[in-house]
Amino acid sequence: MNKQNKLLHFANIPTVRLTLVHLAIIMTLSITFSVVLYKTSTRPMSPPPRQGWESNLPTQNNRPERYLDDNARLVVEEYLQQRKHELLIRLIWINLGVLFVGIIISYVLARWSLRPIEEAMDSQIQFVSDASHELRTPLTVLQTTNEVASRKKKLPISEARELIAHNVDEVKKLKNLTEMLLGLLKDDKKPVEFTDVNLQDIVSDAMSSVVEIAQAKNISIEDTVPKLKIKTDYSSLVQIISILLDNAVKYSDKGQQITISADKTDNKIYLHVADGGIGIRASDLPHIFNRFYRADKSRSKASGVQGYGLGLAIAQKLAKQIDTRITVKSETDKGSTFTAEILR
Ligand code: ADP
Repeated sequence: MNKQNKLLHFANIPTVRLTLVHLAIIMTLSITFSVVLYKTSTRPMSPPPRQGWESNLPTQNNRPERYLDDNARLVVEEYLQQRKHELLIRLIWINLGVLFVGIIISYVLARWSLRPIEEAMDSQIQFVSDASHELRTPLTVLQTTNEVASRKKKLPISEARELIAHNVDEVKKLKNLTEMLLGLLKDDKKPVEFTDVNLQDIVSDAMSSVVEIAQAKNISIEDTVPKLKIKTDYSSLVQIISILLDNAVKYSDKGQQITISADKTDNKIYLHVADGGIGIRASDLPHIFNRFYRADKSRSKASGVQGYGLGLAIAQKLAKQIDTRITVKSETDKGSTFTAEILR
């Protein structure tokens, strides 16, 4: 952050506004209190009577008639004026002190209350910018290939077919991406319904969603999950396991094997999706659940893997909603094991 940016950060308009609002409240209270204190302390008082007045304390029917002489009265009045003046000066100083401390407190309070809002806004901006970036790539490819084709004087039918097939592929990618983006936003508000379900059913539903891509790569999936009753949201857990299986297939080489297994403790079930694929570097592991994060792009690209870095972010979000935790152990070139810790 350069100097100007730092200044803008500290003096951004919402912070200044909120600081002023807090300060106005503090100063209104302080000044009101000071005025009341001044008024009550300097209310005109009846002058004290002469010596021996104790025996002549004013009562309803017996008012003292003898008071101080004029000189004494002047001295007393002067003394009172002086005390009034001193009180005024003291209150002004106190209010200046309150103003000074108030500015600091108001600023700290303003920053404290605005920080979560700013963080949420920054994350939204980041999300929109990442999403736009991901959308731009297939759109640019579409635009370029179509422009090149349209400039050709003659376009043989075979080439046109190829172009259309390529366009359809790119549109599919775009559709896939927009569906994932919507999924990521929608899942925030998606109601979850905990019911008693059989884990085996969930696993076979999830497996059916990846069977095609697994067959295309000649990858076999070994399912050793026993019959286990759990209380969870059926569709969320199916989606989580589908994402883990989909990744396992994507990041495995042709002909490899994936295993899905489960074990249980008193209050938890651990569901493991293990592959012998390309694995994840230790430096990438803390980031793979972040939106749009793709570990080691060069290796993924080399194995021709498509993706947007959204799958695990969606899985993580769904997992949180159903009290499930996803952990991962991985070694490069040896494979990865993703584990879903499900509360029973
Ligand atoms: P993507 O669409 O890129 O697969 P994900 O959010 O599902 O997005 O995964 C994020 C990154 O984590 C992937 O880009 C990949 O680098 C890594 N990853 C996830 N699962 C595996 C796995 N089973 N094997 C190796 N790498 C994986």
